Amino acid sequence: MAKVTFNNRNNLFFQSLKKSVDAYFQETGRKKTGDWRLYSKALVLIPLSLTCYAFLLTTTMPVWLSLGLCAILGLSIGSIGFNIMHDACHGAYSSKKWVNTLFGYTLNAVGGNTFFWKLKHNILHHTYTNIHGVDDDIAQSKLLRQSPTQEWWPIHRYQHLYLTAAYSLTIFMWAGVRDFEKYFKKKVYNTPISPMSWQDHAIFWFSKAAYAFFYVVLPIMCVGWQAWLIGYLTMGIVVGIVISYVFQLAHAVEGPEFDAVGLDDKQIETEWAVHQIKTTANFAPGNRFINWFVGGLNYQVEHHLFPRISHVHYPALSQIVQDKCKEFGLPYHSFPTLGQAIASHVRTMKQLGQKPTIAMAATEPAQILSESAA
Ligand SMILES: [Zn+2]
Repeated sequence: MAKVTFNNRNNLFFQSLKKSVDAYFQETGRKKTGDWRLYSKALVLIPLSLTCYAFLLTTTMPVWLSLGLCAILGLSIGSIGFNIMHDACHGAYSSKKWVNTLFGYTLNAVGGNTFFWKLKHNILHHTYTNIHGVDDDIAQSKLLRQSPTQEWWPIHRYQHLYLTAAYSLTIFMWAGVRDFEKYFKKKVYNTPISPMSWQDHAIFWFSKAAYAFFYVVLPIMCVGWQAWLIGYLTMGIVVGIVISYVFQLAHAVEGPEFDAVGLDDKQIETEWAVHQIKTTANFAPGNRFINWFVGGLNYQVEHHLFPRISHVHYPALSQIVQDKCKEFGLPYHSFPTLGQAIASHVRTMKQLGQKPTIAMAATEPAQILSESAA
């Protein structure tokens, strides 16, 4: 597998930024990990999910109410992912390792797997952001062309129209297909996984079995398979659409750049932190509800620079990052509202769905990769 490296010998930008961020924490006396602002979310979101689940399984109610509760359950599961799981898997939820490990398992409770997530997200996505060939986030499905160097199919012309429908399948694919592919192929996208211990194997199978029991078997026993199917689809569609849009709005919008690696090793000209700045965007920074709900993932620029700092600090760090970007002549991509970011994402996907020109295709690593393979 080709290696991608950054020019980190001259990491003047990150050194200077880190100094200012460390000074902020020193001045305020705050810890870099989560605090009551984060823990209060766990106290709202986890009981909210369990209450919705218990009501749905034990109470007879009108169809509109049960569908509404399934949608709320989907939203709260998505928010647990953004706020609790995501911070915990980055080691940012708490300064105590065991607390991060414990809350990281909320991912297994909603259908995923922390072992694969940490490689897929913490390493491949956070290091090689928007680099086709390594970043698994821009290789979600052959039906979606998520970077300019990916192979083009005629159906991609319409991808901006079926985007939301494709996103709605995310959680079903993740829980039921993608994790098993990673497990049996022993790789995440093109990157081989490190050997799994017997505990990793046991946790994988135990959590998949628990997911099947709590999300399929037990609900069917309580409400029948038809009501379960409608409820499960409603919940899963809501989770899939919400998590896909929130993660895609950070990188697949106008402004952020894409790169690619083919068969040969690649050296990125800039330092890692500058690559993050160039490939990432924020949205709706002034919207306090969105910031609360998406676990600070509307401040993805700050998150990509400091993934081990809890999201509750990102609004405060944002001005420091913006000032530093100005000082170093770097862009700072940010969409004022959620609507503007979604519109930009749809335009970006429409653009990526157009047939590439021959001149472009000739220099594309993906094309070179497929030609070599053929
Ligand atoms: Zn992250």
